[in-house]
Amino acid sequence: MGSVTTTDVINPATGAVFTTVPSLDPAATDAAIERAQRAFPAWRAVAPGDRARLLRRFAAVVDQHLEELAELEVRNAGHTIGNARWEAGNVRDVLDYYAGAPERLSGRQIPVAGGLDVTFHEPLGVVGIIVPWNFPMPIAGWGFAPALAAGNTVVLKPAELTPLTAIRLGELALEAGLPEDVFQIVPGKGSVVGRRFVTHPAVRKICFTGSTEVGKGIMAGAADQVKRVTLELGGKSANIVFADADLEKAAASAPSSVFDNAGQDCCARSRLLVQESVYDKFLSLLEPAVKSFRVEEPSNATAEMGPLISAGHRETVASYVEGSDLAFAGAAPQGDGWWFPPTVLLAHSTADRHWREEVFGPVLSVLPFKDEDDAVRLANDTEYGLSGSLWTRDLGRALRVSRSVETGALSVNSHSSVRYWTPFGGMKQSGLGRELGPDALLSFTDVKNVFLAMGD
Ligand code: NAD
Repeated sequence: MGSVTTTDVINPATGAVFTTVPSLDPAATDAAIERAQRAFPAWRAVAPGDRARLLRRFAAVVDQHLEELAELEVRNAGHTIGNARWEAGNVRDVLDYYAGAPERLSGRQIPVAGGLDVTFHEPLGVVGIIVPWNFPMPIAGWGFAPALAAGNTVVLKPAELTPLTAIRLGELALEAGLPEDVFQIVPGKGSVVGRRFVTHPAVRKICFTGSTEVGKGIMAGAADQVKRVTLELGGKSANIVFADADLEKAAASAPSSVFDNAGQDCCARSRLLVQESVYDKFLSLLEPAVKSFRVEEPSNATAEMGPLISAGHRETVASYVEGSDLAFAGAAPQGDGWWFPPTVLLAHSTADRHWREEVFGPVLSVLPFKDEDDAVRLANDTEYGLSGSLWTRDLGRALRVSRSVETGALSVNSHSSVRYWTPFGGMKQSGLGRELGPDALLSFTDVKNVFLAMGD
């Protein structure tokens, strides 16, 4: 058994340490993985209806603790209380959704002469889930719910900065009756615990959400054992506003599409493309919407945005604003905590650093475009392809542009891209594979084909 050190947990709204959590070393990580490996045969053998019932019970226990989980996230991640309640509810909903899966995980019967050919969706074994700090609860649930439903056991590593809700979800799973070691939370460093998930041969799949840079390293490491991966990586999504759109509605909703969760959202529409004929008008509509965006103590019911996650991250975000062409900015509290105001920057070309790179903060870059072809060209001029929006009243254009923008999730005349029953994931360097919806479940299985000869 390995040794365990501790990590401080900080409230980003005040900068104060309020608790500590264990940080596991490689030996303790191996021990958790090996417990998960031992728990696998019994878990996969649980009858489909019983596994479904356990997951529904887990969802119900999460529901009973919604407020506690939400308050924990406000303290640990600085999320607004409104968002945090939605996030805890999302874990419940994703569990409920995949609780419908065990009895429906059907294979196929394929016509073959001389016998019976059938396919099975076999669970993989131990699945390692690696979670970032920006949405600790939903991203954990998007991995563990389908993985467990498909009959795998799970080891989950939360981000160093935001481990508390994951640790609590691990306790709630036991309270709901999930067997010991089927779902374990393994807190610690990415370079220690996360790395061991990649190198330990008993872990058969990595479901990773985080930066593109770390994701590439995980994919390269996984190649060594042909380990399965789902990767949900960075984004730099475009919000395209055509001249024929409902400009008032598009301007009113643009701030939340990028400043929600203080811009620490892989789906943030951080590149705003506006048709040049309405560019000035649109910016004049956008300015009051940005300036009235409420940045305040995240536990206030009126808060639309809280602080950034850490002092270091605030410095990184500020480095994109310094020396750039500021259009206008909103307000943020002064004093303790890692606050940053909603900020709108004018881009002069697609080469501008704030236009190209994922800032992961409340910074929106704006650029005009000429026509439909230009809009698509500019939107696709990025290595990322996660999300995006477009605003137009022309149905034909909405369809043409939706098909042309290289991105995994797109919304027309709205900004919604994540629903637990529809697929979510990135094209290009934003990721590999899909989470949520009907697609995720099968990615936690391998297809087995069995032929039974009829005999004479
Ligand atoms: P990160 O890549 O630094 O860390 C993510 C997780 O990986 C953490 O738990 C970390 O401890 C772990 N990790 C770090 N190094 C590792 C290693 N060598 N081996 C294994 N694990 C390791 O990302 P972050 O800063 O926590 O999160 C922000 C990033 O996540 C942004 O780029 C954002 O776009 C992305 N993100 C993507 C999605 C999506 O669905 N596509 C969703 C949320 C966040």
